[in-house]
Amino acid sequence: MNVTLFERLATLTKSRQRKLGLLVGAVAVPALILAAFATLLTLRVAREVQAENTRYCGYVEGKITEAFEQELIAQLRDAVVPAEGVAHEGGDRPALLAALASRSRQFEAPHYVPVEDMAGLSVIMVESNMLLYGDDPTGRHQHPFAAVVLRGPDGEVTGAGGWWFNPRAFIATRLATVVRDRLSSSPRMYGGIESTRYLCVQVYDTQGNEVGRVRDPARAPVTRGAEMTGPFEGYRVHVTPTAQAPVSLAGRFVIVEVSLIALLTLVMLASTAIGVRYILRQIELVQVKSSFVSNVTHELKTPVAVIKLAVETLEMRRYRTPEEGDKYLRTILRESDRLAQLVDNILDFSRLESGQKTLRLTSVSVPDVVSMAMESFRLRLEDGGFVYSVDVPEALPRVKADPIAIQHCLLNLLDNAMKYSKERKEVRLWASERDGMVGISVSDRGIGIDAEDQKRIFDKFARVETGLVHTVKGAGLGLSLVEQLIRAHHGRVEVASTPGEGSIFTLLIPIWTEPNGSPRA
Ligand code: ADP
Repeated sequence: MNVTLFERLATLTKSRQRKLGLLVGAVAVPALILAAFATLLTLRVAREVQAENTRYCGYVEGKITEAFEQELIAQLRDAVVPAEGVAHEGGDRPALLAALASRSRQFEAPHYVPVEDMAGLSVIMVESNMLLYGDDPTGRHQHPFAAVVLRGPDGEVTGAGGWWFNPRAFIATRLATVVRDRLSSSPRMYGGIESTRYLCVQVYDTQGNEVGRVRDPARAPVTRGAEMTGPFEGYRVHVTPTAQAPVSLAGRFVIVEVSLIALLTLVMLASTAIGVRYILRQIELVQVKSSFVSNVTHELKTPVAVIKLAVETLEMRRYRTPEEGDKYLRTILRESDRLAQLVDNILDFSRLESGQKTLRLTSVSVPDVVSMAMESFRLRLEDGGFVYSVDVPEALPRVKADPIAIQHCLLNLLDNAMKYSKERKEVRLWASERDGMVGISVSDRGIGIDAEDQKRIFDKFARVETGLVHTVKGAGLGLSLVEQLIRAHHGRVEVASTPGEGSIFTLLIPIWTEPNGSPRA
């Protein structure tokens, strides 16, 4: 029968429900709480690591903009040496320009700004050096102008000597050295190269185009980056972790860890559900077994008591006529048959359960096997006051079967037909050929079985615990046995029944085929 876990739970007693509830609560609830706690903790740590990383990247971005100014002034200082010599000796403007031009390889055009024009230039201090810069003061160039101060013979400022230069090209050619050398060698740089080797640095120009990069980022930059100053104004530096950076690994680890926590919780909940199912099954089995034991005990005790009474009556000759004596003898015979059938059922059942039952399938005549079954059952039908008929054509094909097993199945069907009949005591047994099989049917006009119960009567220990069945004892083994035995014949059992009208049980058994494939009549 297809019942949900909840329906099965509902059938338990209140105290069992409470105990199961406690068990589930003791495992599932802490598992869920711990999983939620572990997930929160992991996410919290991940968020802190991310925030720390963003702060660190921001710090490095600032350092890179400074490093570029240092790089520029270092280049200017190198190149301006001849011009400084000329200025020191009081050289004039053309001499200064010529000196500047001699070292202009690093930059574009040289330019000299006399002290009286220097007010148009901006100044920033780079490591105690003055870096002067300006926007195209002569209108000659698109690019910014960068210069250092030149001093005359008395140390007085005479002007600024410098060059126009292309920040885009400057950045593109020097980015790698600035990041790898200047940045990591700076004594003020926290962590040095160790901490920056997993960082990707990208620089974007004023239009947002990438000018250069060192290493590839794990993902596109999400921050605004740091804006460069001085002659590099408008350029932006972005620092992001590479895929190998611990923070990127940590990000991936968080996903894995949260998935693992979820998986573990699922496994835990699933195993709790399986555990509950198992416990329910065990409870049901205990219930079923105890009702089986009480049913079987009753089934065994009743015939034993009847036999004992009949034997006592015969022994003390407490009967009047010989016919009455015969009646007691028939009773003993009938009841011992019942006992034998029950014991056979129990033995067969345990053999089937342990896989020890083997069938000897041979060519069997259906009329023969039916008449053997009727032979041993006729007495019971007659004593029970049943009207019965048997209609098995001699011409039926032979079947591939174990005759003892088929007889056993028929006896079970006949026994049920008798047990579950009330006033209309009619039993019919007939056989016919159908779908390459022979069907042997047993019908009664008894209480019938409703559609829902028809599905489960073949389960072991299954009984319909209502109406008349309640008063008729049985072990719930018969039909389960019949079904298993017929299935082992590669056949099937069908039931057609209308409550209050009666039932028809049909055993369909495959026809015997000769080794060459032809059926034998
Ligand atoms: P038992 O008869 O020992 O209870 P069975 O396995 O033979 O066990 O049958 C299972 C159940 O099927 C019975 O308890 C009864 O409810 C129902 N059943 C079987 N045969 C009939 C029948 N001919 N008419 C009505 N109900 C039947």
